[in-house]
Amino acid sequence: MKRQASGKVSSGDDIAAEKWLAAYRNPASRKGPDGSVIIRQLYAPGYYEAYDMALGYAERMNLEVLWFREKRSCGPFMNRNFPELEALCTYCNKKFNHVEPVPCAKNDCAAEFCSRECLTEHMRLRHP
Ligand SMILES: [Zn+2]
Ligand SMILES: [Zn+2]
Repeated sequence: MKRQASGKVSSGDDIAAEKWLAAYRNPASRKGPDGSVIIRQLYAPGYYEAYDMALGYAERMNLEVLWFREKRSCGPFMNRNFPELEALCTYCNKKFNHVEPVPCAKNDCAAEFCSRECLTEHMRLRHP
């Protein structure tokens, strides 16, 4: 899987971005006594880039990094999809980076939303 910023001229070398996973703990969450744990995925060409992104996110969002690894070596997590560090709202397509996005109310739907309003609209259109 390859990602390129649109409009940017590639230097010619094709660096395939690897998928990485990072697990964070949100100490401020009231979901459980120890806060809540979230897993995010990100794309980066190498370890240091991925590490920077994962840590930068933790700093911006006041999270603790629990672990961080290449998705290929994540065993049971390998075939699952996680929200990206900066998620796109499935309904309005806006980028957002809430720690806990609004998930679709249907269990088998992976959609995530920036707001309850977007969830409501998605439910109306996709799961009537
Ligand atoms: Zn939205
Ligand atoms: Zn849905």
